[in-house]
Formats: sequence, C-alpha cells, structure tokens
Amino acid sequence: MADSDDEYVAEASEKDIEIDNDDDGDDDELGTGSGAAISGPGGRAARSRDARRKKKGRGGAEWEVSRTWETLVEGADGTISATVEGLLEAGKRKRLLRDTTPLQRGIIRHLILVLDLSFAMAEKDLRPTRYLLTLRYAQEFVQEFFEQNPISQLGVLGMRDGLAVRISDMSGNPTEHILAIQALLTKDPKGLPSLQNALEMARGALFHTPTHGTREVLIIFGALLSSDPGDIHTTIQTLVSDKIRVSIIGLAAQVAICRELCAKTNAGDDSVYGVALNEQHFRELVMDATTPPVTHHTTATGSAKDNPASLLMMGFPSRTLDPFPSLCACHSTPSRGGYLCSRCGSKVCSLPASCPACGLTLILSTHLARSYHHLFPLMNWVEVSWQRAAAAKSENCFACGLAFPRVPPRAQWGDAGAGSGVTAKGISVSGRYECTVCQRHFCIDCDVFAHEVVHNCPGCQSGIVQREETTIGNGNANGNAELKGQQEQVDAMDTG
Ligand SMILES: [Zn+2]
Ligand SMILES: [Zn+2]
Ligand SMILES: [Zn+2]
Ligand SMILES: [Zn+2]
Repeated sequence: MADSDDEYVAEASEKDIEIDNDDDGDDDELGTGSGAAISGPGGRAARSRDARRKKKGRGGAEWEVSRTWETLVEGADGTISATVEGLLEAGKRKRLLRDTTPLQRGIIRHLILVLDLSFAMAEKDLRPTRYLLTLRYAQEFVQEFFEQNPISQLGVLGMRDGLAVRISDMSGNPTEHILAIQALLTKDPKGLPSLQNALEMARGALFHTPTHGTREVLIIFGALLSSDPGDIHTTIQTLVSDKIRVSIIGLAAQVAICRELCAKTNAGDDSVYGVALNEQHFRELVMDATTPPVTHHTTATGSAKDNPASLLMMGFPSRTLDPFPSLCACHSTPSRGGYLCSRCGSKVCSLPASCPACGLTLILSTHLARSYHHLFPLMNWVEVSWQRAAAAKSENCFACGLAFPRVPPRAQWGDAGAGSGVTAKGISVSGRYECTVCQRHFCIDCDVFAHEVVHNCPGCQSGIVQREETTIGNGNANGNAELKGQQEQVDAMDTG
C-alpha cells in the first residue's frame, strides 16, 4: 500500500502521533507517545535499519513496484492473451516455490489468534473494511489451520475498548471458532486496542498447555498504538521465559514495539512480523501462519537441552455405533456414534481430542499422516526445456491427461518467446513440470494441486501401485491411449 502511506501520515499527525519518517519512505515506522507500550524513538534507528534489510525477503515492496505493464508484449496474433496466461501461470508457480529443506517443526501446536477489534479496524483501505476482511480471513485461517495441523489446538481473543475479550476457548474443533468469529460480524469495532492485555490473556490460556507442543500467538493488528495498563516490556520478558512465540500481521504500518515483540519471542528472528500491503498480501501473510514454525534449538534461555525429544502417548480409537444413545464425556450430549478412549473407555464425539477422563491424546492415524508432509515436504518440480520435452516425448500431463503444447521444430527451441509470448520467471517454456524423482511430466495445475493439496507426487505413487497390481497398470495405459486419441482429434480441429 505504498500509495496510501501519505494517508496514514496525515491521519496520524491529526491525532498528534510522533512520526519517524525515513528517507527511503517505503516502510515507515511509527512510534506513539500515548502509552508506555511503544518504545521511544531513541536508539532504534540502527537496529530497525538492520531489521529492515532482513525484512525485504518477506516484504512485498519489491513486487509492489514491479511494472507489470512493461512485461506485456503483443503476441504474434496481435493480442496479449498469451502473456496474460503466462503471468497467471507465474503467479501460481510463485506460491509453490518454497523452501523444501526438511526442518524440525512443531506439529502439535497451541495457537492463540488475537484479532484487533478497535477503532482502527473501521478503516476502508482494505476492502470492504479492515474489520470485515479480517473476520473473513480469520475464518479461512481457522479452516486451513486445522487442515494443515489436525492435532493442534486453537483459541481466539479480541482487543476492544482497551480490554482483551475472549471470543472462543482453546479447542481442536474448527466449527466452534468459526461460529464465534461469525458472531462478531454483527458488532462494530470500537475503542483502543491493548497489546499487553491481549498478551497476558493469551499467556494465561497457553499456560497449561503441555511442553511437547508449541505455544504461539498470532496477532492481527490494525492500530498504530497500544493503550496498556503497565509496562509491556515485562510482559515480553515473561513471554520469553514461558517460551511463547508471537507473530504479528500489521495492517497499517510498522510499529517498533511489534518488531521488538516478534524478535524477542522468536530468538531474534523478526521475519514473523509482516505488514500487509494489500488484500492479497494480507491473505498470504495470514496463510503463512498455517505452516508449523521451525523449532529453534538455541532459544534465548538455553540450548537443545531445554527441548529434548520425548515420546508422547497417543490413542487411536475406532468409531463405535451403540444401539442406544449414550452421553459423551466431552459435552454430555446423548449420541449413538462416537469414539471410545483406548485407555479408559470414555466416549468422545469427535477426533482429534484429548480424553476428558484420562487426558490421553486421541487421534486418527490419518491426522498424523496429514501433519507429516510439513516435516518432509514434496520437492519442487523443475521446469522442462523443449529439448528435454522432446527427449522424453511427453504429450500429456501424467496426472490429469491434459495435452501439453506440441514440441516446435528444433530451430525455435532457443527462442523462448516463440509461440508462447514472453516467459515470466519460474515458468516452463514447454508448459511441463518434471518431478525429479520419477521424471514424469505434469501441467501447472497438477503441480499446484500435488504440492498444496495432496502433498504427494502422483507419478512416484503410481509407480508403486503398478508394480503390485498389473491390472491397474493396464487400465492406465488404456486410459492414456484413449486420451491420446482424443488429443489427435483436437489437434486436427485446431489446425483445420
Ligand atoms: Zn461430546
Ligand atoms: Zn481416557
Ligand atoms: Zn495435469
Ligand atoms: Zn514423482
């Protein structure tokens, strides 16, 4: 939102807020004198400059100023549709190319989502308003969070009228949280936010969580000030000693105390503090938080000794159906179906849950499998050159059967622009993407689907099946032959 910075400055000066305007102008830092919460301007210039260098990696400022119109070039047919398609493909691909290094991550997470419900959320710089957009993304976040982290727990808090308000309690059931967030739609944002109150309440909620899981707080913060009853620095210290990690998504501009809060609670790494530039970037920042955080071995308090690998007891109950309704141990509501705790036999109505009677973690093996891909991510697939495509003779996407563009004569291989318009960075000239393990070729949509949804390579997986069951192999071959036939017809129609 580079162009709306002026708006903020104007608005801020009306409210008598002290502004620290830097010469580079793209990320302004605002400190306010309105409370003890926000650190004074002294001594942070050098620090924030360093931090800013690092921040560039995550910030959207680079693509914000990239001149997309300059990459638009007319194709041979006089339209720009080919280029536009290329740009769309590059966009899909950009989301995909992530770091695939296997890292130790905490897959059992305890996260408190803190929503700003203060006056600042009534702003309309994010459409329709910051408030409504935040509530919408919060619901999507809850859904995605449990999709990616099925054995984790979540709670939601709000900051309104200088207080922290409880929206939903810590639980593993997405529906409860989504209903609670939807109930906020009828209310209006008002009053001042208080970071300290919210953090203290979140600390209370995370206090009893077991040590094998992570303790995280994600704050969506629209205001540029925090009205606190005490010294927020003591709160930050207690958060550090309780091993609670805070990440913040700002909606207006960078605030010094937020950066400090993120850096101190994440062992010096302040990349978890992001400021949304526009609606799309805001969504990306929110969705980034669904990936489990990396385990820091050298925390502020000590070394790996603080975080030894330990075994965790889990029960894998199977579903039972009683002839008569009985009460579940979790809500005391009568139901016929349910799961019996594998240790004490209490009935719970949904999984994952911890047994209300004996405290055993009850999950399904599919939940564990779904968390597994964060630890061993599917490798990024590579772009395929025309030369490689011709050598492999791939004509259809291995997964969906979509026909690839045909390999042009050898003379045109060197010229990437020929026939397909301008190629944006990261996209394949031949429209093919290759799994480096099974060396099969896929289309861009299957690339996105395999990496974002199924987290498995269809080529590698089918290799195993084909060896075991030859009948399925034959079926595939037939299917391919049929598709190939159809493709030839389509090609004939195209040329005709
Ligand atoms: Zn129940
Ligand atoms: Zn039990
Ligand atoms: Zn495909
Ligand atoms: Zn593969």
